[in-house]
Amino acid sequence: MTHPVLTALGLTGTESGTYLGNGEWSKATGAGVLEPINPTDGEALAKVHASSPAEYEQIVERAQAAFKVWRTTPAPRRGEAVRLCADALREHKDALGSLVALEMGKSKPEGDGEVQEMIDIGEFAVGLSRQLYGLTMHSERPGHRMYEQWHPLGIVGVISAFNFPVAVWAWNALISAVCGNITIWKPSPKTPLSAIAAVRICNEALKKGGFPDIFFLFNDAGTELAQHFVDDKRINLVSFTGSTKVGRHVGERVARRMGRSLLELGGNNAMIVDASADLKLAIPAIVFGAVGTAGQRCTTTRRVFIHESIFDDVLAKLVTAYKQVEGKTGDPTDPTNLMGPLNSPEAVQGYLAAIEKAKAAGGTVATGGAAIDRKGNFVLPTIITGLTNDAEVVQTETFAPILYVMKFKDLDDAIAMQNDVPQGLSSAIFTENLKAAEAFLSARGSDCGIANVNIGTSGAEIGGAFGGEKETGGGRESGSDSWRAYMRRQTNTINYSDELPLAQGIKFDL
Ligand code: NAD
Repeated sequence: MTHPVLTALGLTGTESGTYLGNGEWSKATGAGVLEPINPTDGEALAKVHASSPAEYEQIVERAQAAFKVWRTTPAPRRGEAVRLCADALREHKDALGSLVALEMGKSKPEGDGEVQEMIDIGEFAVGLSRQLYGLTMHSERPGHRMYEQWHPLGIVGVISAFNFPVAVWAWNALISAVCGNITIWKPSPKTPLSAIAAVRICNEALKKGGFPDIFFLFNDAGTELAQHFVDDKRINLVSFTGSTKVGRHVGERVARRMGRSLLELGGNNAMIVDASADLKLAIPAIVFGAVGTAGQRCTTTRRVFIHESIFDDVLAKLVTAYKQVEGKTGDPTDPTNLMGPLNSPEAVQGYLAAIEKAKAAGGTVATGGAAIDRKGNFVLPTIITGLTNDAEVVQTETFAPILYVMKFKDLDDAIAMQNDVPQGLSSAIFTENLKAAEAFLSARGSDCGIANVNIGTSGAEIGGAFGGEKETGGGRESGSDSWRAYMRRQTNTINYSDELPLAQGIKFDL
């Protein structure tokens, strides 16, 4: 029987994973089948027919044709199209939020929150559609005007991770749309249903508003078609969100063909709790940051450095809070639960392996440390003490609710340890000390793309640019001036004089 959450969105349980444009979902069935699994009970939720190379080709050709129209559509009019998408997403927020929770395994409030992010970025993009500003410069030559303008790039390819099955696409696609581009999306094979539903909602809204197709979708049964996508010169920008391992490969391949890539990869985020910290804020921030989405956020708090003078007290409080979360771990679609399952049995294996490694390296399990004996991919939220920051397992992103808690004496040492990992996404300090806060945010402080004071590492507001340094990939998405990644800059000089002066005063007398 089709799950009611699917039915609410008009999904039947046997879906096409290929949106060809012109309102057409492919009917072909020969390119393999994806079977997204409900992580709560291990049962298949639906069958999704994957896309063939011929269908991919058709999509790219239609996207190229669509770009020729969309690039000359005035940007504020493109904003109007995105506004319709945001309105439609708002209308379907409850249903789509439930599907995200069901398919990915995050809690219902987090599923709804993910859809809210799509709505928020849509609204941000609408405003942006009137603000794609370029600079005007003073020319050194008399009677000359110089300025820059931003033109659409072409086709933007989005490859997304399972943990934010729809928001990452919206971050890219809705900004990219007001910038004048066409987006082709290859979602995670673990969460194709959320992707199909999101594309349907937005494309139906566009159609009703009389707008052309600007969003295409394909699904890959393996990785061959995705690889072809990455190597395809017609894809002007590849925006990749996923693991550092795959992202490194994608970045290298795109660079080889001189394409553009935007990489949003793994994190290993830390929080510093100094002696002055307000624990009423710090404790819930650590717990939400570490166990929210069952530790499957790129911004999940994975390491905490606690000042030695308050270490025992903070650890005891954390263990108490973790026991409460244990009691509220279960079906993520039940809004009273705080933590759902991991997304896959492989993730459970990864969690167990990391705990074994941590123990072998001298770590102690302060709480948790085991899978839960029930159907689905449930594990206990876990705290490990007694390791140093340089332990291999601490240096590695394990996509699960495991928190390494360490001690520090001196703030500079804590900052050095927090920076001493290959990744550079999100970081935070809890302190009431102005000097400590400012040092943490200064050039000698956190080396991450995101650095917070008295707020945890996880989650982000769409107004700011989102992304990280080092092995996190260097990309920035969402707010601030991230839109520039989706456009090409052109510098223009206009001579309105009767002379032809050369730059730098060069003489070239004929
Ligand atoms: P993953 O790297 O396994 O998969 C990501 C995507 O890459 C999927 O769509 C997958 O099908 C595709 N893929 C796999 N092989 C490919 C290939 N050869 N060519 C092209 N595409 C290929 O990641 P995941 O397990 O889905 O997601 C978890 C990871 O994503 C974590 O490391 C997490 O930190 C990271 N992440 C980062 C951000 C961020 O913004 N920095 C956000 C969300 C997730």
